[in-house]
Amino acid sequence: MKGKFLLAIDQGTSSSRTVIYDHGAHVVASAQQEFPQIYPQPGWVEHDPEAIWESVTAVTRGALRKAGAVAADISAIGITNQRETTVIWDRETGECVYNAIVWQDRRTAEYCEGLRRDGLEATVREKTGLRLDPYFSGTKIAWILDHVDGVRDRAEAGKLAFGTIDSFLLWRLTGGRVHATDATNASRTLLFNIHTQAWDDELLSAFAIPQSLLPEVRDCAADFGVASDDCIGGGVPVCGIAGDQQAALIGQAGFEPGMTKSTYGTGCFVIANTGAAALQSTNQLLTTVAMRIGGDVTYGLEGSVFVAGSAMQWLRDELCVIESAPESEAIARATGIVHDVYVVPAFAGLGAPYWDPAARGAILGLTRGSGRNEIVTATLQSVAFQTRDLIAAMSQDGIKPSVIRVDGGMVANDWFLQFLADVLDIPVERPDNVESTVLGAAYLAGYQAGVVRSPADLATLWQCDAVFEPKMQAGQRDRLLAGWNDAVHRVRSER
Ligand code: ADP
Repeated sequence: MKGKFLLAIDQGTSSSRTVIYDHGAHVVASAQQEFPQIYPQPGWVEHDPEAIWESVTAVTRGALRKAGAVAADISAIGITNQRETTVIWDRETGECVYNAIVWQDRRTAEYCEGLRRDGLEATVREKTGLRLDPYFSGTKIAWILDHVDGVRDRAEAGKLAFGTIDSFLLWRLTGGRVHATDATNASRTLLFNIHTQAWDDELLSAFAIPQSLLPEVRDCAADFGVASDDCIGGGVPVCGIAGDQQAALIGQAGFEPGMTKSTYGTGCFVIANTGAAALQSTNQLLTTVAMRIGGDVTYGLEGSVFVAGSAMQWLRDELCVIESAPESEAIARATGIVHDVYVVPAFAGLGAPYWDPAARGAILGLTRGSGRNEIVTATLQSVAFQTRDLIAAMSQDGIKPSVIRVDGGMVANDWFLQFLADVLDIPVERPDNVESTVLGAAYLAGYQAGVVRSPADLATLWQCDAVFEPKMQAGQRDRLLAGWNDAVHRVRSER
């Protein structure tokens, strides 16, 4: 086999990163770069695709330089990406017809409402496992077709290509030779039937999207062509693609049904592996493709909380009660569990399992003695309570994780993880390498390139750093959860 390293690109919402691993999944070098966010109107969020591309080429060059590596040293490339974000470009010139519309963008809320009134919600839910919500790519594509001059005609003439960010990067890396995506990214578009694993004609016609725009859907570990762009410096095969949250599940070696990961970055995303069964949630969770390897589809149940680590940034930047996110740990340790103050960080509404976009945040239960320490601690606690709500919804859907694997920036906080274990009443495992997302992309590439023989071999590469065992008495947990449920009830827009 050619090369001694794997190269993984993680194109995230606020930054792009490239990490080079050896074949034992150890980090050899990495480089990261932020790029600008564009907010043209309230509720709209865009990225300049050229800025994304420039950041990806810069960090890829940077990581190769730091590793002292050239193309011949790389066995394969893996890509993971911010999901749902939508790009349309010209097949001939490669030029994008509009900025990338980011997953957070809400401009198609009314359009979704209209489709819901037309009765499309049940079909969407049944075929895609998703909700009729602006979050996903379908209505973003429709918006570009309907609002950018000449784009619909060009699309209908087969001159344009749509992609989520993985597809866009693949197109650029291969010099326009490959227009493909993987099943996890496809499963977030509202256009992909997760049961038949094919683009769905009925949905395409409901959103008035021409089939010719769409990429070919491949397995997560597959032959995606050869990246020959200058930033690589030679031909290297692209062998793995997965959306960021699915890549994190793979990086956590979550290959068995029931295995569950929770990622704590800006927000919190939980995915439970449900095996070959596409479980339809009756508790407002999403059904999604967790991975597709060797043609076998593994499904997942997913729930997301909009505000997790960003609540720490709120304490730091808006309330100005901490200097840095890590300071929250010492404060919580000194304060101890707070029983009467509840912070509900519903700054952008409540995500799963409530889906209440009009809810807003609140601090409840203040007394004369409540101060900064209680508010900081209660904010950390709120992230654990929200995870508990997701896990409870999963349990009601029949998936009861016996342990949860965590990753993301916030899991450096041991106090938070102990409280999380106490509230969930299951052990919380933190891996050695908490950068599960980019590691997942490297795993996929390594698997396809033959560096590792099977997903089971990948599982042996996963190393545990710490396990947090639940210690709290049931009575205390019940009292805390009752207080939290009451606080959430008070912030709901409809009670
Ligand atoms: P993203 O990938 O979404 O940018 P990261 O995985 O890098 O996020 O995590 C960063 C988030 O974690 C920030 O929102 C920060 O507030 C939070 N964070 C980082 N360290 C800690 C800590 N020790 N305690 C609590 N939160 C933390």
